[in-house]
Amino acid sequence: MARIVMKFGGTSVANLDRIYNVARHVKREVDAGHEVAVVVSAMSGKTNELVDWVQNMPKVAGAASPFYDAREYDAVVASGEQVTAGLLAIALQSMDINARSWQGWQIPIKTDNAHGAARIQEIDGTEIIRRMGEGQVAVVAGFQGIGPDNRIATLGRGGSDTSAVAIAAGVKADRCDIYTDVDGVYTTDPRIEPKARRLKKIAFEEMLEMASLGAKVLQVRSVELAMVHKVRTFVRSSFEDPDAPGMGDLMNPPGTLICDEEEIVEQEVVTGIAYAKDEAQISLRRLADRPGVSAAIFGPLAESHINVDMIVQNISEDGSKTDMTFTVPSGDVDKALAVLGSNKEKIGFDVVQSEKGLVKVSVIGIGMRSHAGVAATAFRALAEKGINIKAITTSEIKISILIDGPYAELAVRTLHSCYGLDKN
Ligand code: ASP
Ligand code: MG
Repeated sequence: MARIVMKFGGTSVANLDRIYNVARHVKREVDAGHEVAVVVSAMSGKTNELVDWVQNMPKVAGAASPFYDAREYDAVVASGEQVTAGLLAIALQSMDINARSWQGWQIPIKTDNAHGAARIQEIDGTEIIRRMGEGQVAVVAGFQGIGPDNRIATLGRGGSDTSAVAIAAGVKADRCDIYTDVDGVYTTDPRIEPKARRLKKIAFEEMLEMASLGAKVLQVRSVELAMVHKVRTFVRSSFEDPDAPGMGDLMNPPGTLICDEEEIVEQEVVTGIAYAKDEAQISLRRLADRPGVSAAIFGPLAESHINVDMIVQNISEDGSKTDMTFTVPSGDVDKALAVLGSNKEKIGFDVVQSEKGLVKVSVIGIGMRSHAGVAATAFRALAEKGINIKAITTSEIKISILIDGPYAELAVRTLHSCYGLDKN
């Protein structure tokens, strides 16, 4: 017997038939004797609709910055998950399964005060654990909790993944199954490279890089949380027949296990290729090469909440002038240029140049820590295809390369095959 948290995303609960199908997945685990808590998203499209309603209220619409009350935004957008939780509890009860729905405040899932992007601070799993022990299935509304102001707080878009992992940690589950519309985590995006393979296992750290570098299977914060609490997390499909052979396998269900690297015996050097579109590059030319320039540039950008990613600085030839290049999301370029413009005197640069529509492709793998030549392989492969590299950054387990947008797909395929990820 095990304790399992099962999370179902928006497409898995998109209509009543699918909710019923989800109930069959839950029934399979209940019938096997496991203790089960379920976390649900809103039906697909629902959260977008709710957000639109908030943003299109006359007088709010078109405002330069949203001046609506974030607490009321949360009251509205949290409702989508509440509907799904109730409907799934009804579906389960119709199958004679003892089940009830839970909203965030009822558990309670305590968050901080950052309405719209709240972080979970504490979950009291006692009551859910007690009831699971009595055979009751908890159906929890994802994406929401309760803030210190005693009001509903939502966790940011995609936040029900984080709810699920947090609940799994809170009730000390053996496993957290994230059911979605794909059957696992792939070596790269199969829409770009049909030879992409489903990974059996991926380490937390690698998944964190994959998620932050563009793979959209899981909310980044859910992976962070899983890593901290060592929650073994499976990504698997809700669209397979709930009663197909192997679906209820406790140790090896179909899907991708995200786990501690110790659990991965045969570690490949490279695990996957991720990409992020809509990157932009900003270059400051002929900066004074003196202490404090970087602080003068990136301080004001940070204060304006502009997310700077790759930073490249050249060593100046004569010790007086240098160039600084960095990337930001394309959507933030104009804001960044305005911030730099108004700090021109303080920073002391000659000209600023920018370019939008770039793509960052990344090679990820913890095996890189102990292998030389991984980066050189990438550079050679891209060169053979005539792809120009605009900037490079590396960490222990990843190499990120900035290139022109139109080369994105070719670069992903090239990198995928140069490490043999399309084989075996
Ligand atoms: N329904 C929320 C969203 O669409 C949360 C989630 O699905 O994870 O962002
Ligand atoms: Mg999601």
